[in-house]
Amino acid sequence: MRLRPGLDLLWRAPGEVQIGTDPRWAVRLSGLSDVEVDVLTAAEPGATLESLRASAARHGLAPERVEVLLRTLDEARVVCPIPPRPSSAGSATLLSGAVGDARAWSAVLEDGDGGAHVRARSARSVGVAGLGRLGLQIAVVLAAAGVGTVLLQDDDLVTSADLGVGGYLPRDVGSSRAEAAHRIVHDANATVRTRAPARSEPDLLVLVEHGAADPARSRLSMAIGIPHLSVVVQEAGVLVGPLVVPGATPCLRCVDLWRADVDERWGVVVAQLAARTRPHGPEESSLAAVAGSLAAAQALAHLDGRVPTVRGAGLEVSLPEAVPRVRSWSVHPDCGCGAIPLPRRDDAPSEITPAEIAPAEIAPAEITQSEMTPFEFTPPETASCVGDRGRA
Ligand SMILES: [Zn+2]
Repeated sequence: MRLRPGLDLLWRAPGEVQIGTDPRWAVRLSGLSDVEVDVLTAAEPGATLESLRASAARHGLAPERVEVLLRTLDEARVVCPIPPRPSSAGSATLLSGAVGDARAWSAVLEDGDGGAHVRARSARSVGVAGLGRLGLQIAVVLAAAGVGTVLLQDDDLVTSADLGVGGYLPRDVGSSRAEAAHRIVHDANATVRTRAPARSEPDLLVLVEHGAADPARSRLSMAIGIPHLSVVVQEAGVLVGPLVVPGATPCLRCVDLWRADVDERWGVVVAQLAARTRPHGPEESSLAAVAGSLAAAQALAHLDGRVPTVRGAGLEVSLPEAVPRVRSWSVHPDCGCGAIPLPRRDDAPSEITPAEIAPAEIAPAEITQSEMTPFEFTPPETASCVGDRGRA
């Protein structure tokens, strides 16, 4: 066993040590002697319990007392197993950037093995279509996070409006977006593959579009049965989602049908948006960065086997604040996409017709931050209460 990697050990007060700072799992140990405080605050995050025992022995702590301390740490859920060594040398090495990912996931995951979590992404494959600033941001984050294959698709050329976010350089202007993105994605992860073996399908397609999701493209994605994440760049906002798992979650046609229920001419509007052939407008800097990273995080949730927020929902990111708002959709009864109907979420803003839009009334989503007071632990006998992980 070892201390959970990524959790700092901090002196709080005489006889008191805090482990971790995130309110989800932070705990404080009180009733400690000065020597016990010294032993704990000198330990490195991720140190093995064996090394703690050795340190305690050097400081002259009685073995029985050391075992009481270690039991308390275990009850506080700030220790986890030492992960087995990766079986193959190729997967044993984490890229320098992914080491940070592994450290953070070690704090989040019950087994504390963030390294295995990140290494598993090397077998995953994602296609990103649409490589403006936002799409390139998505591709770079996925590659840096350890995704093994990132397929890149865009027939346009890099323009000066593409610079500044994502990674295109001035010398890329006029060259193929896909080729420049290929180089940039490799800079983020030297081992990433940008071509897939023949007859293989990606685990997820990310479709970055402008104005509206193209219904023809949506139908194609449904027909081939590949999960796809829609990202639509709008006039001064971006809609990230829904992530569609064909046959299991509301599809993009469901979203259009709900919109058409309140705006009978929506079909006419979306057809024009999808058919536009003139170059898209530039993508605003903060929206490209925020929405690109949000889309990548949602894609990673899907690839990691979790249920992302945007299954049956979208994250609306709009100027001026770029604070995400969640809107949700259920399966539309007229769609026939085969998905199991899901209840609409209470926090979903209702669909609005253009005449009803009132920008002055659009407020940023409320974010509440609970005050962080670590749960208290006292080593002798009575410890029982820990952070959220322990209460679950
Ligand atoms: Zn549908």
